[in-house]
Amino acid sequence: MKILVLNLGSSSIKFKLFEMDDKSVIASGLVEKIGEQSSYAKLKVEKNKEVFESTNAIKDHAQGLEVMEELFKKSGIMSDFGELGGIGHRVVHGGSKYFKPTLVTEKVIQDIEDIIPLAPLHNPAHAIGIRSVMKKAPNVKNVVVFDTAFHQTMPKSSYMYALPYEYCEKYKIRKYGAHGTSHEYVSKAGAKFMGIDINNFNCITLHLGNGASASAIKDGKCFDTSMGLTPLEGLMMGTRCGDIDPAILPYLKRVANIEVEEMDTIMNKKSGLYGICGTNDMRDVEEKMKTDEKAKLAFDMFCYRIKKYVGAYYAALSRVDAIIFTAGIGENDNLAREAICENMQSLGIAIDKEKNSIRSGEIRDISTKDAKVRTLIVPTDEEFAIASATLELVK
Ligand code: ADP
Repeated sequence: MKILVLNLGSSSIKFKLFEMDDKSVIASGLVEKIGEQSSYAKLKVEKNKEVFESTNAIKDHAQGLEVMEELFKKSGIMSDFGELGGIGHRVVHGGSKYFKPTLVTEKVIQDIEDIIPLAPLHNPAHAIGIRSVMKKAPNVKNVVVFDTAFHQTMPKSSYMYALPYEYCEKYKIRKYGAHGTSHEYVSKAGAKFMGIDINNFNCITLHLGNGASASAIKDGKCFDTSMGLTPLEGLMMGTRCGDIDPAILPYLKRVANIEVEEMDTIMNKKSGLYGICGTNDMRDVEEKMKTDEKAKLAFDMFCYRIKKYVGAYYAALSRVDAIIFTAGIGENDNLAREAICENMQSLGIAIDKEKNSIRSGEIRDISTKDAKVRTLIVPTDEEFAIASATLELVK
């Protein structure tokens, strides 16, 4: 059965088509710069690496999906979306209502629209995307997989903010988390790799990509996570600041007359690695830090933040079976992994430098032989996780 996974951003669509009978990828691609003259769409066929492209201007997501369908037709893979067995949608925010993948109904789309204030860039695009494909292929079932769902098991003492209770209630202010599909996928894969029942598995998962987050997972369920009401909280990221003293906002208003809306952009797009050293790509940061003090500082800050979260989550979990690294930096960056795990022998965390330096796309254990806590690298595969969840529900 063919399952299409869609990930719609504010001006982009990423997609991957799976053949679930043999769990293979048929094709993948993206549509970007939607709403601009310089839009670009690309589909790559996995088997022969053939690429199909379009450079026509794309005015909105609905047109983007049409261009995508056209590329599928050109490639000979399928003539329209009606041939699909199901479509899985990554949805950034599910509020407090959704804690598992869900078959789409009109009510589900309305719920996604109702929480637009919590995800103003993403949820509108998700709703438009779902409605468009439902119109194009009315007989194909759609499933939504929420980035927040896995974190819904957090206890109240983990997800509440210490603000006046009535504000939290009235305005739905709480920690929702993000990257849930990835944290869930890598924790399950890690437990399986170690031969431990997931319901008895405690771990700290570190999803370190452009966006970065950490989760404390107790008995296979999320106990705490670093992202908050929005994905801004927690670790330092490519362009996001992560945790800061919230009093910095009124302070900058007083001393520099920077309005809160502008601060929102600064904190999300101009901070993090980029804010400190002018580049948000960790490979460039590491290249630059050979000669540039600010790049070295950015690297040190990034790793130190993660170390602090590991310490905090270790204390919260009391027993930790594994530390799991995943995503672009987590999977590929031995320097960052080494810096994060340095001097943690007293917690039973120690990595073997040689194992850490080997590049591989496989799940692997990089700890020293006698380390009490295993340190694993688990390649994440959010799209495959969404495709599997979709298959389960459409079957
Ligand atoms: P996202 O999906 O959040 O956009 P990714 O998971 O693709 O991000 O991760 C992107 C990050 O991973 C970038 O900072 C990139 O520099 C980093 N990265 C990828 N490969 C390497 C590598 N070999 N060494 C260091 N960092 C890497």
